Amino acid sequence: MELGADIVIHSATKYLSGHNDVLAGAVIVHDEKLYEKLVYKLNTTGAVLSPFDSYLVMRGLKTLSLRMERATKNALKIVAFLKKLPSVKEVLYPGLGGMISLKVIDRNKIPDILNHLQVFTFAESLGGVESLITYPAEQTHHDIPLEIRESYGLTDDLLRLSIGIEDVRDLIEDLKEALEN
Ligand SMILES: *Cc1c(COP(=O)(O)O)cnc(C)c1O
Repeated sequence: MELGADIVIHSATKYLSGHNDVLAGAVIVHDEKLYEKLVYKLNTTGAVLSPFDSYLVMRGLKTLSLRMERATKNALKIVAFLKKLPSVKEVLYPGLGGMISLKVIDRNKIPDILNHLQVFTFAESLGGVESLITYPAEQTHHDIPLEIRESYGLTDDLLRLSIGIEDVRDLIEDLKEALEN
């Protein structure tokens, strides 16, 4: 909004709710008239979040800062661990939050790696309390032509981790077992 947007649309499904149990989003406006127009429209068409889903978002928000702190702390330790593994070619991490991408040396081992993991769940979401792993080339980005996804680094050897708030020793042990087998 500081950059001049009239309306900001923000997902609340991921970190804001934080428990992988609700689909939600927020429409944020500055202008009072626009706000009233939107509220009227939503109220009359009924395209709003249910009371229970709203409750889940509000409950999740209360622990947002704690969850982010812990996810970042865990992620930093996992990045340091992954960088030392001979089976890992590259680790991508922005330095904050729980999202890590890694490229493996041998992409043929990816099905085995995914099968071996016990603490990480092989699932597409992100931003929750539990750690998840996805294989974007075969899941979220399967529909995108190879040349296009490779042009922005989404190669067939890339795995994406969403780090949760578990004990980091369990997460590192799990990755070690899976990546070194
Ligand atoms: C992220 C996600 C969606 C989309 O939610 P948005 O609020 O649009 O970001 C839908 N389903 C699952 C399982 C997701 O992880």
